[in-house]
Amino acid sequence: CGIVGYTGNKEAYPIVIKGLKRLEYRGYDSAGIALHQGDSLQVYKKAGKVAMLEESVLGENLHAFTAIGHTRWATHGEPSDKNAHPHISPSGDIAMIHNGIIENYDAIKRDLIAKGYLFKSDTDTEVLLYFIEDIKIHNQCSLEEAIRIALKRVVGAYVILLIEKSAPDTIIAARKGSPLVIGIGKGAHYLGSDASPMLAYTKEVVYINDYELAIVRPDELILKNFGNERITPFVQQLDLD
Ligand code: GLU
Repeated sequence: CGIVGYTGNKEAYPIVIKGLKRLEYRGYDSAGIALHQGDSLQVYKKAGKVAMLEESVLGENLHAFTAIGHTRWATHGEPSDKNAHPHISPSGDIAMIHNGIIENYDAIKRDLIAKGYLFKSDTDTEVLLYFIEDIKIHNQCSLEEAIRIALKRVVGAYVILLIEKSAPDTIIAARKGSPLVIGIGKGAHYLGSDASPMLAYTKEVVYINDYELAIVRPDELILKNFGNERITPFVQQLDLD
């Protein structure tokens, strides 16, 4: 039941894992992480605790400057490795994590199955991801534009984070009904369900509102509404006493 993201000039894996541990108090049944490794997206995910995810990646190449991490509270599909997030798009080009529920996933899933898509999990999340990629390919548009089009058709509550193979330093995030905070660092940005994953690194945060989409790079935070209009991020200082 938590999301974490990092893009910046430091190793992303330890920051995202620490962030997931900070969110453990929310409760969850599975954990996972997607690392942007230049020409590939590497996904590790496991039913169980974050510590089990860490054990399962011992010895792997975890080098990345951009990563997204997830703790899952299953709503659609039992807790299992395959239903854990991140999910990967059919082409392998996009990884996505999601907290919340896509209420009309069934109708969208039927349309996609009719088009020939085969699903690897039982989640509503994977349906939204395949839907986004289908729109991107069909409309020959950017991922950002495809997300906007998809979210107009989606009923539900969500915060989603996506990374794309062709954009090594970019995380795209959107929310409606689930919390999202973005922390502003030096040459880095932090994303979280709340501010706890970023407390160790920055006191400057932006609370993202419903129907907002963020394009997050190490030195840039672009905030837009779902109508593609720019919004000036409202930066707040965390008061910790
Ligand atoms: N509905 C999604 C799933 O069941 C996300 C659950 C969550 O918020 O962790 O996989």
